[in-house]
Amino acid sequence: MKRKLVVGNWKMNGDRERNQILLREVLQGLPVGVECAICVPFPYLAQAESLLGGTSLGLGAQTLSEFDHGAHTGEVSGAMLADFSVRYVIVGHSERRALQGESDSLVARKALAALRAGLIPLVCIGETLAEREAGETENVLQRQLDALAEVLDADSIGRIAVAYEPVWAIGTGRAASVEQVQAVLSFVRAWLAGRVRDAGDVRILYGGSVKADSAQALFGLPDADGGLIGGASLEAPQFLEICEAAV
Ligand code: PGA
Repeated sequence: MKRKLVVGNWKMNGDRERNQILLREVLQGLPVGVECAICVPFPYLAQAESLLGGTSLGLGAQTLSEFDHGAHTGEVSGAMLADFSVRYVIVGHSERRALQGESDSLVARKALAALRAGLIPLVCIGETLAEREAGETENVLQRQLDALAEVLDADSIGRIAVAYEPVWAIGTGRAASVEQVQAVLSFVRAWLAGRVRDAGDVRILYGGSVKADSAQALFGLPDADGGLIGGASLEAPQFLEICEAAV
């Protein structure tokens, strides 16, 4: 059976002192039977790599360049991330889509760049509240997923993870209901089944205001393979409870 995956997204939070305390606490309580990882800001990759070395807590980053090297000032390549023992990289987070203007096709090219570097891209998709209220949720997700298939072949799609993160549930304290989440996760699973042989092996995560008290029900859904955790990953006891809920 595939183990669930719980990934903390620190976003633009932390400093060296706090990171050390948080990571030590997380490492002390890490449950077995679930895969856990944290995605840290670039400057803290080296610190996290040295604290996580030899432990089962995986290291991740929050974005990467679509290019492999060269004249791209300010960008970070997948190979550089791999150089710091990074295993996962978030691509297409809604904050980057909204604030950095990342398009569906750029997100797909970044996912491909991650795979080229041997990383596992956690590809975020999700609708805004206006899109949901307009009954557009499936159209939006279909568009975001189809953009991936323009760039990734079937084998590559089989090597990504998809994170469903409704924009209206991110950082709002208002997680989607289990019915809403399962409806989308099964939609994503069906999309995958149309493209890869073993769609059941591709992990689909849910993200958006996951807390210790909602995690169990969300992770128990038939198509949920884990979660992407923002705010609640910044406090060790909460994050550990959420990891525990995925065992
Ligand atoms: P949240 O963020 O858990 O704070 O809602 C989730 C995310 O942005 O990945």
